[in-house]
Amino acid sequence: MNIVLLGPPGAGKGTQGERIASRLGIPKLATGDVLRAAVAAKTELGLCAKAAMERGDLVPDSVILGIMKEALAEPGKAKGVVLDGVVRTVPQADGLARVLGELGRKVDAVLLFEVGEDELVRRLSARTTCEGCQTPYTGRDPGTACEKCGGKLVRRKDDEPEAIRARMKAYREQTEPVIAWYENHNGPRVVRVNALGEIDDITKNVLKALGQ
Ligand code: ADP
Repeated sequence: MNIVLLGPPGAGKGTQGERIASRLGIPKLATGDVLRAAVAAKTELGLCAKAAMERGDLVPDSVILGIMKEALAEPGKAKGVVLDGVVRTVPQADGLARVLGELGRKVDAVLLFEVGEDELVRRLSARTTCEGCQTPYTGRDPGTACEKCGGKLVRRKDDEPEAIRARMKAYREQTEPVIAWYENHNGPRVVRVNALGEIDDITKNVLKALGQ
């Protein structure tokens, strides 16, 4: 099953994506994680993405399409994948459909995580992320250790207030139109998920909606 996670920054796509992928026994692909790893390793991809990411802007579609193509062709992704933040513009939705189509696959479901903007800003400003394994935490101070891998928790540059505002704007202007694109492309069903509440309850609701 190929599942696209859509929703504003801070809606919990990363957290839920991890849980859904492990329950379904398929891997997760998060373009944000791929890009941050490239920035840390100072690869060509990283150098090209760094400035846009730190401002809270989207990186160019061509960059994302390159990552998509390479990642989806991996044998481990053949049975399906949870795509977290991989589709953020209409050209990317189009490109993903094409790349999957060439591999004889398709998007089976789109999960749209819904939360109000005040709550998102509150969550993102309280967020720290493990430098090593990228696990996000809420309300833990920078400098403390990650529960999973012992890595150091840091405040992402794009979780500073100005970048948060830019990310919200990019979501409203460039990602929201993707919802209508999916709804009008008689393809996958778009499942709306209330992303407010207990993490476990949200996972249960999502799995139920997916028929699991
Ligand atoms: P969030 O969804 O919380 O903003 P991510 O970790 O998923 O955070 O992504 C971090 C940043 O990586 C984004 O703000 C953007 O700059 C870049 N990025 C990730 N995926 C994409 C994409 N599909 N298109 C454009 N930029 C992307």
